Amino acid sequence: MKEIILLKAGEIALKGLNRSVFEDRLAKNCKFRLKHLGRFQITRAQSTMYCEPLDEDIDIDEAVETLQTVFGFSKMSRACVVEKDMDAIKAAAAEYLEPVLRDCRTFKVEAKRSDKAFPLKSPAICAEVGGYLLSRFPHLRVDVHQPDFTVYVEIRDKNAYIHGPQLDGAGGMPVGSSGRAMLLISGGIDSPVAGHMMAKRGLELQAVHFAAPPYTSEYARQKVITLCREVGRYAGRIKLHVVGFTHVQEQIRDLCPEEYFTIIMRRYMMKIAERIAREEGCGALVTGESVAQVASQTLYALGCTDVAAELPVLRPVIGMDKNEIIAVARRIGTFETSILPYEDCCTVFTPRHPRTRPKLREVLRAEERLDEEALLADALSKVESFYTYPED
Ligand code: ATP
Ligand code: MG
Repeated sequence: MKEIILLKAGEIALKGLNRSVFEDRLAKNCKFRLKHLGRFQITRAQSTMYCEPLDEDIDIDEAVETLQTVFGFSKMSRACVVEKDMDAIKAAAAEYLEPVLRDCRTFKVEAKRSDKAFPLKSPAICAEVGGYLLSRFPHLRVDVHQPDFTVYVEIRDKNAYIHGPQLDGAGGMPVGSSGRAMLLISGGIDSPVAGHMMAKRGLELQAVHFAAPPYTSEYARQKVITLCREVGRYAGRIKLHVVGFTHVQEQIRDLCPEEYFTIIMRRYMMKIAERIAREEGCGALVTGESVAQVASQTLYALGCTDVAAELPVLRPVIGMDKNEIIAVARRIGTFETSILPYEDCCTVFTPRHPRTRPKLREVLRAEERLDEEALLADALSKVESFYTYPED
């Protein structure tokens, strides 16, 4: 029996004339993400995509699970393909759904007929298929209000499809359809969540991580690579740039007033991230900042870091409580990695009394003793860039 996966587009179904651009991207993303499972053919009609396995031994459950992590679909179902003939449809429904129907007591049939040339209308299809299933499985009863199981029959252009209840897709927009952005990723809880949220809005992610060896360890670096792979479960592959930040931090420590250390360091992160972002064609920076979470995230401090870069800075978790962010981190599978106890460069040289109400004018004065161009050049010469893949 031939099986395929039927996928319903989410928000892109609302797009107008440029809808096919989004659909092309979505199809490409699916192919890319399914590649390690085998060959698939992806076609589409109306707002449905058909994903058909081309190799014999493909594990369809695994393919469905992977597709549930591709942004852009609202619903999906694993379905059996059958010719548009009532006898064939009835027989296929009984055979394909036998394992589930055997174990439930009540059911109903729902039919959808997008091919209006098909001789039976939906209620008649339901009645015929339902009657047949009752005769094949005498223990069943029909319950149209609260059935244990719903059998769906869809009559479409080329074929009919039979399936059970639909599964949820990941929602959002296809990764890459809204452009590309640079995520500042620490080893913490918030930034992976921020990256996930922006990927969901269709941004292709790259990531930059600031490391300060020997103050920060190889474990901390590996942790960030793992986090990128985990964010990549939905966002796809992520190009990661690891920046050697030690010299910059030491210079700030040695030359600037202590209470401004954190804010100046964060401004340098923005500046360096922006340079790499522009080089890589990114249209925005993304951070995991949330108002009032720490001293560097007061409105005053955010005001000072914001102007360090000209690119827009997206902060999707800005209004979320820590508990809300943690709930997302758990759901997307980054939480356990995030709480591994390795030092981040933010926590070395932290001032005893950081300024919570820094004024930009004072920060700029505090920065004056730094040779900005030399420091940026130094950091940019210490960048190591590579792709991380979710399936690694
Ligand atoms: P997170 O949980 O994401 O680490 P946080 O609450 O610890 O966030 P901060 O340490 O103040 O907050 O960092 C705020 C944001 O700055 C982070 O969400 C991240 O986007 C960025 N950031 C912090 N440290 C680094 C780093 N070492 N490399 C890259 N970006 C960083
Ligand atoms: Mg942090």
